Amino acid sequence: MQEKDEKLMEKVISLCKRRGFIYPGSEIYGGLAGTWDYGPLGVSLKNNIKNSWWKKFVDGREDMYGVDAAIIMNPSVWKASGHVDTFSDPLVECTKCKRRFREDQLKEKGKCDDCGSPVGEAKQFNMMFRTQIGAVEDSSSTVYLRPETAQGMFVNFKNIVDSFHPKLPFGMGQIGKAFRNEITPRDFIFRVREFEQMEIEYFIKEEWWEKYFEYWHDEMIEWMESIGVDMNRVHELEVEKEDLAHYSKRTIDFEFDFPFGRKELYGLAYRTDFDLSKHNLIYQDEETNSKLVPHVIEPTFGVDRSVLALLVSSYKEDESGEESRPYLSFKPSIAPVICAISPLLKNKPELRDYARVVYGNLKNEFGRVMWDDNGNIGKRYRRQDEIGTPWCIVIDFDTLTDGSVTIRDRDTGKQERIKKEDIIEYIKERMN
Ligand code: ATP
Repeated sequence: MQEKDEKLMEKVISLCKRRGFIYPGSEIYGGLAGTWDYGPLGVSLKNNIKNSWWKKFVDGREDMYGVDAAIIMNPSVWKASGHVDTFSDPLVECTKCKRRFREDQLKEKGKCDDCGSPVGEAKQFNMMFRTQIGAVEDSSSTVYLRPETAQGMFVNFKNIVDSFHPKLPFGMGQIGKAFRNEITPRDFIFRVREFEQMEIEYFIKEEWWEKYFEYWHDEMIEWMESIGVDMNRVHELEVEKEDLAHYSKRTIDFEFDFPFGRKELYGLAYRTDFDLSKHNLIYQDEETNSKLVPHVIEPTFGVDRSVLALLVSSYKEDESGEESRPYLSFKPSIAPVICAISPLLKNKPELRDYARVVYGNLKNEFGRVMWDDNGNIGKRYRRQDEIGTPWCIVIDFDTLTDGSVTIRDRDTGKQERIKKEDIIEYIKERMN
């Protein structure tokens, strides 16, 4: 990692902790590797990402069906999908310090990342978390926490067809938690053991696969741009035949230049008819009165990696003033807080009361609105810049006589005077 990037990562992690985006999981007990807890601003950012995704890919379309399937499924699902037999990573153990690593992620081939001693033979390590269901602890009651949301959609394929009679092509979409017992969780929220995915299974006729692969490729890019992912950092990797997952005939990884290296952000896979065939599911084509097993194009998105990509894309330092001014340049639609409201002086009841009314109205309209009357105005601006709030609104003595407020722009630091009745319109215009 270059020094500049190392610093960027440190700054982002420290900002996330300090300002209430993301905390280490179970921190007061020393943490738990591969788990992170989202604080108020992190939840807001994450929800905005998920809502934007759902709006574009599910609610915004006629051919998509949303589901929210159970995390614990019948273990036969994972047998049929191939996960019990093949969802594993190569695990190696250091012959000296006994630390374990994923073989393909060692910094130097065959050598321990920690002490440099040789590592032993690789063993296949299944990444699914196992647990027991019910009161009897025998193997028949072993279940898994789902390692992907995809199977929750395949097993509901027949339900959707029976309830809605969709014509091909159509898709299913789901957002939810997935769990993987990663050998070496690392890089903040990039590789964790509990994370969220947003996935689409798009069902097609086999002969259409190339067309829809291209189509979903473009849709993915359009969405990334719309939420503010820095597209200069995004690169496409055509996954080599020998590296393809067991179900895939073609996969593109959308990689992102994270500060710790170029790594997978999202994936797009042509899953063929692998899953539906394995689950013995068919589709009755009502037009031709024939039966077929649809093929599948799968765009998959990690929520946590989206959060990280947006933090990295948005972190800026304005050096034009005397002191460096760090800010997150989130798009308003994604920013955890849309605007902050302040009375110029904290201890003047007339300013405070007025500002509370303005705050109430904006809160009703946008929800993501923050009250901030701590410290002087300069400090408040800096605090809001740091969490990426696009606008700060200040109520001062002139407001009391002419009803105008100061609205300050995060990126330029410029201030404008507008009527308080116009605030909502002002923000809405700029949000869209
Ligand atoms: P990697 O090669 O980085 O382990 P993968 O190819 O196994 O990832 P997929 O199985 O394609 O990942 O999972 C789909 C998406 O889920 C990924 O593109 C990523 O955004 C997200 N994801 C997968 N594993 C993790 C993880 N351990 N932590 C956070 N997000 C993850």
